[in-house]
Amino acid sequence: MSSPDIVIIGAGMGGATIANALAPSGAEILILDKGEQLPERPENRDARAIFQRGFFRPRESWYDSEGNPFNPGNYYYNGGNSKFYGAVLLRYRAEDFDGIAHADGNAPPWPFHYAELEPYYDEAEKLFQVRGKAGEDPTEPPRSSDFAFPPVPDERAIAEVRERLRKVGLKPFSLPLGVDIDKWLSHGKTPWDAFPDARTGKMDAETCALLPALTHANVKLQNRAEVKRLIRAADGKRIEAVEYLQDGETKRVTPRLVVLSAGAVRSAVILLASSPEGIANRTGMVGRHFMNHNLSAMIGIDPRFNNDSIYQKTFAINDFYLGDGKGGPPLGNVQLLGRVSGPILKSDLKHVPEFILDRVSKKTIDFLIMTEDLPDPASRVRLDGERIVLEWRRSNMTAHEGLKTAMRKALKQAGFPIVLTHLFDRKTPSHQCGTIRIGNNDATAPLDSFGRAFDHPNLFVADASTLVTSAAVNPSLTVAALSLRTAKHIRETELRS
Ligand SMILES: Cc1cc2nc3c(=O)[nH]c(=O)nc-3n(C[C@H](O)[C@H](O)[C@H](O)COP(=O)(O)OP(=O)(O)OC[C@H]3O[C@@H](n4cnc5c(N)ncnc54)[C@H](O)[C@@H]3O)c2cc1C
Repeated sequence: MSSPDIVIIGAGMGGATIANALAPSGAEILILDKGEQLPERPENRDARAIFQRGFFRPRESWYDSEGNPFNPGNYYYNGGNSKFYGAVLLRYRAEDFDGIAHADGNAPPWPFHYAELEPYYDEAEKLFQVRGKAGEDPTEPPRSSDFAFPPVPDERAIAEVRERLRKVGLKPFSLPLGVDIDKWLSHGKTPWDAFPDARTGKMDAETCALLPALTHANVKLQNRAEVKRLIRAADGKRIEAVEYLQDGETKRVTPRLVVLSAGAVRSAVILLASSPEGIANRTGMVGRHFMNHNLSAMIGIDPRFNNDSIYQKTFAINDFYLGDGKGGPPLGNVQLLGRVSGPILKSDLKHVPEFILDRVSKKTIDFLIMTEDLPDPASRVRLDGERIVLEWRRSNMTAHEGLKTAMRKALKQAGFPIVLTHLFDRKTPSHQCGTIRIGNNDATAPLDSFGRAFDHPNLFVADASTLVTSAAVNPSLTVAALSLRTAKHIRETELRS
């Protein structure tokens, strides 16, 4: 396949989903992925290997604006970051598409309303076999059908905490999750959040989208194929070739269409590295509006509580999503973290013996506090020679502090007298998005609302780069829904015979 119909760069959430949707068209599709298949091995379920030794982290550095290197938790495997994800597959709220006024600024509107994406959310939930329960989440947007599978059940200790929070007036709801819990636990009694999945029960981009796409004879995958640049034809518009490095050799393919799906940081890097001014970068927007959610771990401790759960991550709270409950601005989403054990705590608290941390962790309940990061052109990914520079400017921290205060109060009322928090930094770019956004106006966005580059008609982007806002829910289901919408548009405009 040196001149396939379509080259898809990256086999993660965006790339694998679009490959899956385009596969039945019969078009010759070549997927180039920097990673390869994640093998089954003991480290996959070993918290010390994952959290203390960074066994799966890439051997690469990115740089902050002061030139300090850091090792990012950005993973290169078939399936991309979804191999490690918490499998929370939440839709954005309807309000997220219409623009939201926050304490520290405004989230802008999307080029379309929620209703436009709803059928694709529905399709994405079916593709990723999402488990959930409609009607429990107070901010849930309208849905055209119910979840096909019942929610992953609370474990005993978690059901107790859900009840305690209900009694203090909150409305915990079952997290929509892409995990077959029986299969997952049959391979090891561990949480799944941040644990990689060698096809053992997580509904990730490899398992649900890539592998089924590869059953079509017209779809091929090349691994260890790191795309370095896109090459334009003489007209400056068409992308003529994709250049990649594989096992030390530089290679080229000349597809009819290119779909860029290398993730929000790496997709921007590819466009910026492709020419001195960058591809699709007439207005200098590529790499800008980088967003990553403001995330804190919040740990509530109750000496009488016995957390004997294995996975923990089954409910969330959206009571503060659209407002602070007192007539003030929106705060965000709170969801359980995967169960935090001694070996996980030890990765941050290196001076405390692990057995003590293990004992403490039996008395804790662990949440993720998630607030919207607002798009800011000064928050950006750029290149300094070959170095990737991530100049992340956090925003909207008033909402983050407000959500921590609200949740701390609720946890104390629910009988957890000690509440500790830890803010995640740039080493955790898990929810990276926004660097090549869609829009209706080529002066403010590199891509049209279907993800097609305004200036390059045979270039599409289908990954978290395209998100206009980060909202305050996990990004994957929205990435998948947008990819399905882009795939339909490609089928209708490019693949009609
Ligand atoms: C620990 C963790 C937990 C998370 N939990 C959740 C969660 O519970 N719910 C949720 O919605 N989201 C979660 N996320 C985020 C989620 O995984 C991402 O939002 C999603 O995977 C983004 O999809 P993507 O297509 O943009 O990028 P990715 O899925 O990361 O895919 C990018 C792909 O591009 C490939 N690639 C990169 N560079 C190149 C190159 N130069 N050439 C060729 N290929 C390249 C990579 O190998 C990869 O296959 C989590 C992420 C992490 C790390």
